Amino acid sequence: MPLRICFVTAEMAPLAKAGGLADVSAALFKYLTAAGHDMRLFLPAYSSIDRKGIDIQPVEFMRHMLVKIGAQDFPYSVLTASLPGSSARFFLIDCPACFARPGIYTSEADEHRRFLLLTHAAFMSCQRMGFAPQILHCNDWHTALAPLWLRTTYHSDRLFAHTRSVLTIHNIGYQGIVSAAHGAELLAGADDSLLHQPDLHAGRINMLRTGVQYADRVTTVSPGYAREILTAEYGMGLEDDLLARGGAITGILNGVDYDDWDPRSDRYLPRHYGANQLRTKADLKQQLLARLGLRDAPRRALVGIISRLATQKGFDLLIDALPPLLASRDFNLVVLGAGEPQFEDFLAQLQQRHPGRMHFHLGYSDELAHWIEAGSDMFLMPSRYEPCGLNQLYSLRYGTVPIVRRTGGLADTVRHFDAATGTGTGVVFNDYNIEAVIWAMNTALDLYVQRGSWRRLVQNGMAQDFSWQRQIQQYSEMYQQLVQQ
Ligand code: ADP
Repeated sequence: MPLRICFVTAEMAPLAKAGGLADVSAALFKYLTAAGHDMRLFLPAYSSIDRKGIDIQPVEFMRHMLVKIGAQDFPYSVLTASLPGSSARFFLIDCPACFARPGIYTSEADEHRRFLLLTHAAFMSCQRMGFAPQILHCNDWHTALAPLWLRTTYHSDRLFAHTRSVLTIHNIGYQGIVSAAHGAELLAGADDSLLHQPDLHAGRINMLRTGVQYADRVTTVSPGYAREILTAEYGMGLEDDLLARGGAITGILNGVDYDDWDPRSDRYLPRHYGANQLRTKADLKQQLLARLGLRDAPRRALVGIISRLATQKGFDLLIDALPPLLASRDFNLVVLGAGEPQFEDFLAQLQQRHPGRMHFHLGYSDELAHWIEAGSDMFLMPSRYEPCGLNQLYSLRYGTVPIVRRTGGLADTVRHFDAATGTGTGVVFNDYNIEAVIWAMNTALDLYVQRGSWRRLVQNGMAQDFSWQRQIQQYSEMYQQLVQQ
């Protein structure tokens, strides 16, 4: 049964991407729309969006809209847009006061307000269009007030009388914790007795917690992470709220958009390869090494990393693990990323200390990311926690052996290779410590020189299928269940 879905998100690839949320929003829009659902997706019209090739049109009856947040009035307009090669249209919320900033996120004092505006604009656009969503799907802390507002601020509108809410947690590490002084903005007219916030006495309100408390269904992006966030180790203070929701929490694994990420058709690569054309992969590696100024040697592996440079991704371990590894083992390393200054500095210094063996590209580059996936032999992802993780999935498809910690979505998607039976798709380690990372790297580098085993490991990975088609089915089923409840 086709459903009416209102989807609100702070990111959508390729327009506005800081991480996995963007890939997931884009994929859900593409595949749920293709499955026949009437999906209205709302995204801020950030001034940083590259508008080249994107068809953007104003919506005549949604110009000069106005929303009051706290004491302030915010004018905004609604635009529609479609991506090249697609006729499906989504909505951009154009509010220069909120979204004309250098990037997607800021650390400015009004950060929460920017996304409150987005959330209000989604509700108000539904009202203007006379669109009665059966599902309101919000994502992460940015839009997590929507489930509360559905029961309060917008409750009296009959359009929303049968709307059920879904909150997807893409990363519980970011919760939108704001000063209780902003309470009136967050409540948007709702009674403050509805804010069940343990932090209120300390003067704080947690937006993600509010979403967890009020959403009809909470999902996260892998079954493993859905279990982990119920524990104190991973729940980041929300575990009790999640436990209180009992069976309402589901983990649906992210998929891969193989239209974008497949070495058999990759738009950035001059040549393509499948599991039986690994010679081409080796040639692409040579090209990548030359481009990065890295020296090759017989059986010298190239290890790749593409990541936000954050503690979550294991860089505090890498600070201690990479120098001894580079000193004791023969391999090349390429890192693409940006983030915390301490990690950027560390990687820049490492590059200086190991010219010709280590290349650090500071910044964001989709094109280089594809080249690293294709040209590397291994991909290192030692995350402290990982809600799903996408790069290990891309790596599998590109025949680039993932080296991952057994956590969250990494544990769900990569199986440790057993040379005796020839089964498994990567190298998996358990403990979050330096010794374990070094063990995993040594294990992978030792395997790399055993040609038969390595080939098997590479091909096992390339045979995996994490396409969205299957995962979309799970979202559809969850929506249908909710609507029927
Ligand atoms: P997270 O959302 O926690 O950052 P994910 O693995 O879920 O991690 O998604 C990260 C996405 O962002 C992947 O598609 C990855 O390729 C991409 N990415 C991260 N950093 C960069 C970068 N510096 N350049 C290009 N792509 C990047």
